[in-house]
Amino acid sequence: MAILISEVLDNFLAKRNVKKKYKAKSFWASSAGTCFRKRYFQRTNQEKSDPFPKTTLRKFYVGDTFHEIIQNLIKEKAKYFDIEKRVEDKNISGYVDLLARFNGETTLYEVKSVSDFYFKYLEKMKWGANFFHICQALTYYWLLKDKPDSMRIVYVGTSTLKIKEIIVPMTKKSLKWIKDDWTKCIGYYKDKKLPPKTEDTNQCKYCTYAKYCNSLKGVNKL
Ligand code: SF4
Repeated sequence: MAILISEVLDNFLAKRNVKKKYKAKSFWASSAGTCFRKRYFQRTNQEKSDPFPKTTLRKFYVGDTFHEIIQNLIKEKAKYFDIEKRVEDKNISGYVDLLARFNGETTLYEVKSVSDFYFKYLEKMKWGANFFHICQALTYYWLLKDKPDSMRIVYVGTSTLKIKEIIVPMTKKSLKWIKDDWTKCIGYYKDKKLPPKTEDTNQCKYCTYAKYCNSLKGVNKL
């Protein structure tokens, strides 16, 4: 009997996801700007009450492929490049998708694969980009010893390879905001104080801790 390709794929992705799991020893830069409580759960290795469904694992896999496409295109043109550079301090860590040098200037690229449908939402967003993606890039800037001259978020449409590049606003105000946000987040962790729920309930729709979070009514210390 023939094998079911979808089953083979899902088994492969499930194993890959298990391999990728690790105990967090710091906050993830990719969670910058998100719900304090969610970041607290990630940092304390709380078991996910709502793990990613198979469809999401498939999307992540497709996303990795598009990352590679963009990284390969840029590295062919750059004088210098660094892929998946690890950045960290004692509280936060992450991997920068790509740092590349052209004409004496270094640019940090953060690649996001999205549905072509998503492009229309990008137009409506402040800065033309998702707020959390901006926060992620600002966090990298803050953590990097050698600061890039500019930062870009590259949105790639997964069915038409439509591309949109957004310049990240590296202002004193935005850098102060991200530093203050992380200071607050780390403060909750150090004080072992459960942060309040986010008021942005959109984040709760896709939260992998949603059921657990909702079970904690009235609890403020874990
Ligand atoms: S369910 Fe909402 S409030 Fe609770 S951790 Fe997740 S994002 Fe935060």
